[in-house]
Amino acid sequence: MTVHADLHTHSTASDGALAPDELAIRAARNGVTHLAITDHDTLAAYAGLAGDTRGRPEIVPGIEFSTTWRKIGVHIVGLNLDPSNTELLAGVEAQGRRRAERAHKIAERLQKCGIRVRFDELAGHREARTIGRPHFAEYLVREGHVRDTASAFRRYLGNGKPGDVRSLWPDPLQAVRWILAAGGIPVLAHPAHYRLTTTRLRELLRDFREHGGLGVEVVSGQQSAATTLKMGRLAVEFGLAGSCGSDFHAPIGPWTEPGRFDALPATVRPVWDLWT
Ligand code: AMP
Ligand code: MN
Ligand code: MN
Ligand code: MN
Repeated sequence: MTVHADLHTHSTASDGALAPDELAIRAARNGVTHLAITDHDTLAAYAGLAGDTRGRPEIVPGIEFSTTWRKIGVHIVGLNLDPSNTELLAGVEAQGRRRAERAHKIAERLQKCGIRVRFDELAGHREARTIGRPHFAEYLVREGHVRDTASAFRRYLGNGKPGDVRSLWPDPLQAVRWILAAGGIPVLAHPAHYRLTTTRLRELLRDFREHGGLGVEVVSGQQSAATTLKMGRLAVEFGLAGSCGSDFHAPIGPWTEPGRFDALPATVRPVWDLWT
């Protein structure tokens, strides 16, 4: 069987628009054979999946942890982990507390901009377990403060804006430990998103590798062929396996559809080789 894996997606358990089952069905329709639902700092999607596995891809349990590396927000994906591992669950709980604290700080900052935030209405219709900036963005749109999500990030939540509360996340090493404890594969998410110089990106990859990191997202969403080649070369240079994922959040908006991205370069060892 040919593997068509999408190893980075979001559901309503964090900031995605589709319930875990809806996401799995959509991925299957796009030809995805292996799907990881990697919600921000939560494993709640796995409890939300129906028992009926017919017509859906094979599920690879995963998560996306928020961390800070040299003051930059860096995301670490964990793949093929045991979602019932106690060390991992303790990590998830700690991240949840940090997210709740951060959400209160974001609300305070917005309050100072003259925006009243009613906390219980933040998640809207979702059953989100972790509150992030996208929930604030939607709230700001619903309440008529901004036209759309993009403007919400531009004016209030994006880099350097009042609602951009950082420095609360742990070191990537911490996330790597939680993932390894649960028998999972730590993967550096979307390396091109951090806008690092190649020198700094090499330092990040070296640190990540030294801490026990095993993979890097060589393909993330729709990216240029040049980026895929560059990330492929870096994966080989640092002895990391290559992962691929859409980072799909919602059918509407700028998101890449599940499974709709370029293949991994042939020189890269696919990350699923590490568990199959
Ligand atoms: P947080 O987890 O609270 O740090 O929020 C980060 C999330 O916000 C990302 O995973 C995206 O889903 C979303 N996001 C970041 N920047 C933007 C943007 N400019 N427009 C829409 N969504 C964004
Ligand atoms: Mn997100
Ligand atoms: Mn991310
Ligand atoms: Mn993501």
